[in-house]
Amino acid sequence: MAPDLTAMMERRKKLLGSAYRLFYSEPVHIVRGEGAWLYDDSGQPYLDMYNNVPHVGHCHPHVVEALTRQIATLNTHTRYLHENVLDYAERLTGKFPDELDTAMFSCTGSEANELALRIARTCTGGTGIIVTDYAYHGNTKAIYEISTEDIPEAEVPDFVVTVPTPDVYRDDKTGEQFAESVRDALALLDSRGIKPAAFIIDTIISSGGVIATPPGYLKKIADIVRESGALFVADEVQPGFGRTGRNFWGYEIDDFVPDIVTMGKPMGNGHPLAATVTRRELVDEFSGHAHYFNTFGGNPVSCAAGLAVLDVIEQEELQKNALDVGLYLNAGLAELATRHEAIGDVRGDGLFKAVELVVDRETLKPASELAVKIIEGLKNRRVLAGRTGVHDNTLKLRPPMVFSRENADHFLEIFDEVLAAS
Ligand code: PMP
Repeated sequence: MAPDLTAMMERRKKLLGSAYRLFYSEPVHIVRGEGAWLYDDSGQPYLDMYNNVPHVGHCHPHVVEALTRQIATLNTHTRYLHENVLDYAERLTGKFPDELDTAMFSCTGSEANELALRIARTCTGGTGIIVTDYAYHGNTKAIYEISTEDIPEAEVPDFVVTVPTPDVYRDDKTGEQFAESVRDALALLDSRGIKPAAFIIDTIISSGGVIATPPGYLKKIADIVRESGALFVADEVQPGFGRTGRNFWGYEIDDFVPDIVTMGKPMGNGHPLAATVTRRELVDEFSGHAHYFNTFGGNPVSCAAGLAVLDVIEQEELQKNALDVGLYLNAGLAELATRHEAIGDVRGDGLFKAVELVVDRETLKPASELAVKIIEGLKNRRVLAGRTGVHDNTLKLRPPMVFSRENADHFLEIFDEVLAAS
């Protein structure tokens, strides 16, 4: 490893401690970004197929300009009147059906989910939370408790119960059939004497292996949990803002409206901005118990970033691009699958793709070690991708939304080489 990288790693360990993780056996030192590309300290370009936070492209000039202009003018908070906050709330709620008419701002997806749980618990009088069995929803204590990917089983509180991740690759149940499992979760809460407050789901199930949920799954779950008095929370931190191509929000895969929608990561293109969007009457009920203030959440600079991101999505037709390039990637990956046995499944939607790697196509045994080799191999050829899923055998491809057909060709060529060499 280059001596300067070793020195930086040692310094980092000393300063940040041991809880942090770096990607790759030999980490990358990225110093600049533009569009779908990142550049290391020696100027080498890397195709970014991992980062969804720079949603409209790294350092998009329209976002940079909006941020720069506002930060040079004023930055306060939501306790003073400011047009940016109102304009952004209006534009954002305009992306939802009429009933989802109220936006509450924060800085991270964790906070947006934490607020969603507080609203759900206040409005239902319940405490029980139902979540998929390999989910990540954030890092605060209340959200860590429902982040079943992270929390050791022995630490999971009684009020948290799970439904199995719908394994659409290995099980050919319909969406409605998969959804039935939520009845068991409700029964388990009931047997513990716990009233349910909410069902929460990442609507592209990214930690569970990037699963565009089968038709009817989300809607049926919403029907069942609402019958029990609980609310449906759609976590759009991953699929939101047009990434899935066909829809602006992941939950729109089914024809229904969630009670609460949370969002974060891509909203500010890297500037910390998150939101909890819900119905006015739920917020009114909540505010009868507690006021809400978040010092940094939804400040005028953050809202300038949020507005600029929406401008670019619309002006550059990035949702349409996600659909188009996503389909193009599907075709390219399907062709690679005819030549590489390790590709078991290609799934996801738009510019959120998963390639599940298997030892063979008979047993469908997860090829977790191969996935590590492939991620490293891609990185050595300067393509950045991620891994996900219960067995960490699924490649996660989630580039900035400006990712083009030309970028897809570049990736497919390198992926072909890496698969052949692994
Ligand atoms: N929800 C989902 C589905 C996520 O993937 C994440 C972050 N990976 C979060 C919530 C938490 O967001 P943040 O890191 O901004 O707190």
